[in-house]
Amino acid sequence: MRKPIIVGNWKLNKTIAEAVEFVTAVEPLLHNDADFGVAASYLALQASVESAKNLIIAAQNVNENDSGAFTGEVSVGMLKEVGVKWVILGHSERRQYYGETDASVNAKTLKAVANGLTPIVCVGELLEEFEAGKTEEVVRRQTKAALAGLTAEQVSNIVIAYEPVWAIGTGKSATQEIAQNTCALVRNEVEVNFGVDAAEKVRIQYGGSVKPENIKAYLSEKDIDGALIGGASLKVDSFKAIIDAVKA
Ligand code: 13P
Repeated sequence: MRKPIIVGNWKLNKTIAEAVEFVTAVEPLLHNDADFGVAASYLALQASVESAKNLIIAAQNVNENDSGAFTGEVSVGMLKEVGVKWVILGHSERRQYYGETDASVNAKTLKAVANGLTPIVCVGELLEEFEAGKTEEVVRRQTKAALAGLTAEQVSNIVIAYEPVWAIGTGKSATQEIAQNTCALVRNEVEVNFGVDAAEKVRIQYGGSVKPENIKAYLSEKDIDGALIGGASLKVDSFKAIIDAVKA
């Protein structure tokens, strides 16, 4: 039985003070029916970790190198130094705006896992790919590429987020059926490459306009083990409504 995992991706939002205020407010609202987390900006990570007890604090990216001439980047060692244990990798905004590729997402995933960070690896098709019927081809390719070189046991412990790009920040969430079917494809791709056991253990989130009103329906699907949430994770009230909605 896979435990649901609900993570808010704050993207370019929240100062240190705002992050601490949120974490402090949300901590007492958590329960054990799911794992909960937020992905803060680099600057707000340390203070968020220090304010959190049970809430997972994730970074939104990491560089695949240990050190060197990579202006503006942050390493795995730097994240670990401030107590971060989780990292979102390959978000579509990073693929679209910052040139991340299947190869760079793979390099980051290998680096993170080798150093004890748990990645939330994002996959998902663009609107034109969806309309052209290429969803399966795209998410299989992205899933296979991102995880190449991991062991089955390592794959069992990571999280994959299926986020159709056309559903992100648009209010146009994927239907339950599309989300379930595509998460099932992702799980099957894990099975093809890493075996049944890894496929049964890996947790797969849906992301894209998830809100308090629709989260329960997604979680009722057999291959959806949680959600990666942008807009609806920014306010304590709506995150609280999500926390309450996923009580078993
Ligand atoms: P929204 O929930 O705002 O659509 O964002 C989804 C997302 O990109 C989470 O990583």
